[in-house]
Amino acid sequence: MTDLNGRHAVVTGGGSGIGLAIARALAEAGAAVTITGRREAALRDAAAATPGLHPQVMDVTDEASVVDGFAAAVAARGPVTICVANAGIAEGRNLAKMDLAFWRKILSTNLDGAFLTLREAMKSMHDQDWGRVIAVSSIAGVRGLKGAPAYTASKHGVIGLIRGLSEDYMRSPITFNAICPGYVDTDIVTRNTAEISARAGLSEEEARQTMIRANRHKRLIDADEIAAAALWLCDPRSGSVNGQCIEISGGQT
Ligand code: NDP
Repeated sequence: MTDLNGRHAVVTGGGSGIGLAIARALAEAGAAVTITGRREAALRDAAAATPGLHPQVMDVTDEASVVDGFAAAVAARGPVTICVANAGIAEGRNLAKMDLAFWRKILSTNLDGAFLTLREAMKSMHDQDWGRVIAVSSIAGVRGLKGAPAYTASKHGVIGLIRGLSEDYMRSPITFNAICPGYVDTDIVTRNTAEISARAGLSEEEARQTMIRANRHKRLIDADEIAAAALWLCDPRSGSVNGQCIEISGGQT
């Protein structure tokens, strides 16, 4: 059993989907987990349902909000020793139909948000004797995703950020890794089903089947499968795994 007693984890986007599954797994292993997001009610409900989760409203596109959110979490629960940069949005739009505002919305949440999150996390992690940084990228971080060039660029960027940091901190006891999921059964997939169905002229069921068929096991992935990988990365025995992208996609790539 991975023992995370005494650890303080921050999980962005921890009020739903993959982030919540990761937060629960870390809390069950003994960590105090700050879960962040914009929707206060979702965070409060999640924290009420699982001991060890603590809500903190924080918008990753807003620098002051991230600085203040981390400061409040550190004041309440001590230095951060695990940081999971998970918050993200997934929307598709072809280049010809993409204005600068759309591009910036995706990049500012997925890539600037990861940068701000990890910068604030490292302020309290850099002098600790142990640390784990995990970013939730996507299979769109290692290959092109049709109809979603901005999302693809943002998720490639997240992997670049992780690889760069793993070099910069190579002599520290902190590891930096990315998890790259395929289609996971969360709200994002539900929203994408509607979007793909409208864009491609498919029924919602046909759009959902397209995502299911992308996985060689012909199913959506459960968020707990992603959480298991994050928990493993927090185990002392994975301390030599550094600067890697772990694909969990049912063989999609
Ligand atoms: P969810 O929509 O459930 O989770 C997204 C989370 O990000 C929400 O909790 C949301 O909280 C938070 N978030 C979004 N924008 C912001 C913001 N500006 N500031 C703070 N928090 C924000 O979907 P998933 O759990 O599926 O997504 C989690 C991550 O996994 C994302 O990065 C996504 O790209 C990635 N991913 C998902 C896949 C899938 O198939 N589901 C596949 C590959 C990667 P709130 O709304 O309260 O702000």
